Order: sequence, then C-alpha cells, then structure tokens
Amino acid sequence: MRAFSIPMRTRFRGLTRRDGALIEGPAGWGEFSPFAEYGPAEAARWLAAAREAAFTGFPEPLRDRIPVNVTVPAVGPGRAREIVLASSGCRTAKVKVAERGQDHREDLERVEAVRDALGPGGRVRIDVNGGWDVDTAVRMIGMLNRFDLEYVEQPCATVEELALVRRRVDVPVAADESIRRAEDPFLVRKAEAADIAVLKVQPLGGVAAALEVAEQIGLPVVVSSAVETSVGLAAGLALAAALPVLPYACGLATLQLLEGDVAADPLTVEDGMIAVRRPSVDEAALARFEVDAEGWRLRAEQADGHGR
Ligand SMILES: [Mg+2]
Repeated sequence: MRAFSIPMRTRFRGLTRRDGALIEGPAGWGEFSPFAEYGPAEAARWLAAAREAAFTGFPEPLRDRIPVNVTVPAVGPGRAREIVLASSGCRTAKVKVAERGQDHREDLERVEAVRDALGPGGRVRIDVNGGWDVDTAVRMIGMLNRFDLEYVEQPCATVEELALVRRRVDVPVAADESIRRAEDPFLVRKAEAADIAVLKVQPLGGVAAALEVAEQIGLPVVVSSAVETSVGLAAGLALAAALPVLPYACGLATLQLLEGDVAADPLTVEDGMIAVRRPSVDEAALARFEVDAEGWRLRAEQADGHGR
C-alpha cells in the first residue's frame, strides 16, 4: 500500500489536501481514499472499491469517451464565466448555489453568467448540497429556471424534502447526498424523491456494486467522483462506460481541483470528454506527494474488521 497527500487548488468539503492510499494487484491500481471523518463501516465500502480495481477489474465498457461537466464553485459572475470558458470544451456546467454567507442575488448572477458563457445550446445544472428548505427550493428553482436548468441536485437535505420539492417544480431533481449507502437508493425510489441518481463508485463499494444500484433504482445515472486521483477517477469512468444509457454529462472532471496527480498521463478533459482508460501510478509522479502509509494500513485493517 502506498499513500499520498495532494494539496487542493480549490477548497472542497473544507479540505485543503486530498489524502488517500493506492493498492496494486493483478488487475491494476485501486484507490482507497475515504474522507477522514468516515468510520470503519463506511471505509469498508471504499476499500471494497479499491480491491475490485486491483484484483477483479471492471466490466466491459460500452463506450470509450465520457462527456463531463465543468463545476463552477460559489464564485462571482466574472470568475464563473472564466471557469466555463477555460473548461476544455465542456458543454455542461454544474453551478454551486446556496453557499453559506451568500445571498440569493449572488446565485442568480452566477447562474446567469454561466448560461451566458455556455450559450443557449449548453446545459446548466445547479447543485444545492441540501442547502435549502422546501419553500426556498421551490422559490429559487422557479427564479433560476429562467436560465433553463437541466436539473437541480440535492435541493434539500432529506429524502422527504426532495420528494416534496419534486412535486412542486418542473425542473428534474437529482439525489446526490441522499444516496451514499447501498440501501439508500431504495428509500429514494420508494419516496419517488428524484428523477436522476448521482452515483459515486467508492462510497457504493465498487463499479459492480454501483451498477447494481443503478439497475435497482431505475433512474438515469450521473457518475460523480469523490475528488480522486486518476486511479480513482478511472473507476468512475468504468462505471459510466458500463451503464446501459448515459443521458447526462458526468462529474468526473475533478482532477483540476488537485495540484497534481499520481499518474504520468492524467485523466484530463478534451472536447468536453474524458477517454475511458486506466492510467497506472507513475513512481516519479507519486514521489511528489507520497507520505507514510502506516495510518492507511491501519484504517484498511479496521475497515476489514467491519466488512466481515
Ligand atoms: Mg452534489
């Protein structure tokens, strides 16, 4: 097991570094990078994903390039425009809204700037990260939809609230934070709380497990990353490549959030797409960010104790 700690260019989840571990097996490299606050039970699924990549491999791909979205953080309109224009041809943008300490006018200005930069043919989705109550969500989605929203991601925190919002707005609702554990999709489906499911490979325990979730939830899927290195992103690409249908751009263009990568040929965006492939770990690239792996070995052992 090898470990890395890569500084982040943009703060994410309050993090300034992305830490994780890498394992190599006969099938290739796997990434094990659960966030620090996750206990052994959650980490066990992330470990299962790393082991699948290293020892089992991924299902046959049905496509060789995956369309991806550019993500626009809660920045001012000028910066939002720059980010879209510098996005290597992405035709879909995900705009973060409802940032703490900002008002609704800032959300409107940012979404307007993004729509303007993309033009009428682009797609604009918003991600609320559960930041609104039901009434605020209904009001804000109504206002922001003047910029023609593709969908709204996690407008409220709970499944019940998502279901209420979904019944009151015309814009499709995507569930993200509401789907983290394998049993969550059933709750979302039962409550008819979403039109779209955002799935991430590591929290769901691997590509095969995520494919099963996709089948069971019966909704179109958007694959997103957990802000991983090229090794973890490759698993997300494998999932996106194996889905029977892929109607939306995926949230896998996250490598630029990191100062560097562990691969010599990172999974970068070209013409709004990422090619489906599995970069291997490059010793020189890893050397820039490598840290002692002892803590990660311990975490994997604890996760193992829970997984059995
Ligand atoms: Mg989200």
